[in-house]
Amino acid sequence: MTMMGDGGGAGSVMGAIELGGTKTVVAIGHADGRVLEEKRFATGEPGATLDEALRWLRERGPLEGLGVASFGPVRVNPDAADFGTMLSTPKDHWEGFPVGGYLKNGLPGVRLALDTDVNAAALAEARLGAAAGCRDVVYITIGTGIGGGVLSGGRLVHGLIHPEFGHLKTPPAPGDGFAGVCPFHGDCLEGMASGPAIEARWQKPAHALPADHPAWEMEAWYLAHGILALLAVVSPERVIVGGGVSQTPGLHDRINRCLSDIAADYFPAVGAGAPFVRPPALGQDAGICGALLLLDA
Ligand code: ADP
Ligand code: ZN
Repeated sequence: MTMMGDGGGAGSVMGAIELGGTKTVVAIGHADGRVLEEKRFATGEPGATLDEALRWLRERGPLEGLGVASFGPVRVNPDAADFGTMLSTPKDHWEGFPVGGYLKNGLPGVRLALDTDVNAAALAEARLGAAAGCRDVVYITIGTGIGGGVLSGGRLVHGLIHPEFGHLKTPPAPGDGFAGVCPFHGDCLEGMASGPAIEARWQKPAHALPADHPAWEMEAWYLAHGILALLAVVSPERVIVGGGVSQTPGLHDRINRCLSDIAADYFPAVGAGAPFVRPPALGQDAGICGALLLLDA
């Protein structure tokens, strides 16, 4: 009842979906990022996963809009005929699936905003989190894969598809003979420094390696080289590094030290007192909160 006649703005109830490779989050909230209620469940086949989210949203009444933060690659250009369609993903059953079209059919007349999970997280951290007040921010996640979202001059960057930070190439770390695990490129950043790459190189899952294991100096080395490329190309004020692997104690400090060494005093933001690379302040909530904020972007 209270929502009737509410024509828009921060008071309207919005839906949000964060689609992840392993888990999905569905929520209702407001376009300023406030979550009212949420539910998490395992990501399965696309139709079943989206049906579960749609059912939960419909039970909560009429929505003004739906913000979607999705794993990728996914078509994020709203003018494209295949807006919201999954592109070349190794995830079974998802490649070519029209996520955007399916959700529009499921919630007719509801405004849809869709972007990558990392772009949504970059927006959330820039509005409400560890980069609050910054207009130039990169959010990197290191988990099963590596991804990066870019906010530049206050706007999310898309380009032809969207940035693919994880598939950047860096030089090999000194003494690292590992061939990499990326099915497309072998030794790109994701191939060398994602959770599965760490596990394949050291024969132990990332979370089982102690914080003083040599794996972490090497991990920081790869990330710092990737971040140096970002500094040179998009010039962010701050970089936020999240995702499961980033929970290793001390990893952000190691990245900052290595970055400071290789930046060689050239980039003023690095080593200028406050840490340049930081953990997310919104933690697990950055994606879903960012999905709501997409409706206000
Ligand atoms: P996903 O990328 O599937 O969304 P995560 O971001 O949780 O999931 O990343 C999963 C990866 O993170 C796994 O490789 C796991 O070993 C690693 N990981 C999870 N927790 C930790 C931790 N506390 N310390 C280091 N690595 C971790
Ligand atoms: Zn790759």
